[in-house]
Amino acid sequence: MLKVNLRHLEEQGIHLQGELSAAELDLGVNDELVRAEQPLRYALSVELLHDAVLATGSLVLPLDCECSRCLKRFATELKLTGWAVHLPLAGEDPVPVDNDCVDLTPFIREDILLDFPQHPLCKPDCAGLKSKPARKVRAVEKTVPEVWAKLDKLKLK
Ligand SMILES: [Zn+2]
Repeated sequence: MLKVNLRHLEEQGIHLQGELSAAELDLGVNDELVRAEQPLRYALSVELLHDAVLATGSLVLPLDCECSRCLKRFATELKLTGWAVHLPLAGEDPVPVDNDCVDLTPFIREDILLDFPQHPLCKPDCAGLKSKPARKVRAVEKTVPEVWAKLDKLKLK
């Protein structure tokens, strides 16, 4: 987890640079076209304001994608270069503080998910497959066992 100790911020802001593993980031995304199995890289400046923590910097998450049109595999990166989060320490909705530490992970996760690609394309003008789309074939393969499973259930009745 990416935690910031508020005591370390009292004198001056800090810079954080490092990696957050896929397990720690725990996006909870199960998309066969977009896989986020590599660690997220972060470079952040964190400072303590009067009654809030301000984190700014960049987040880069490598993604292994499959083009949703032509099924070609390609690697890309989800980049949030001007990322910023303002976390109030007081007021109506303060950020949780545990042992003087604030966990930035949930806020990173949230913003990565907002930008997560839904229909990845190997290139913006990908023409897709000329013959029958392979994706349809795969979809059929998937549903066949389900049909058999349903038939098996019917037989049992
Ligand atoms: Zn493509």
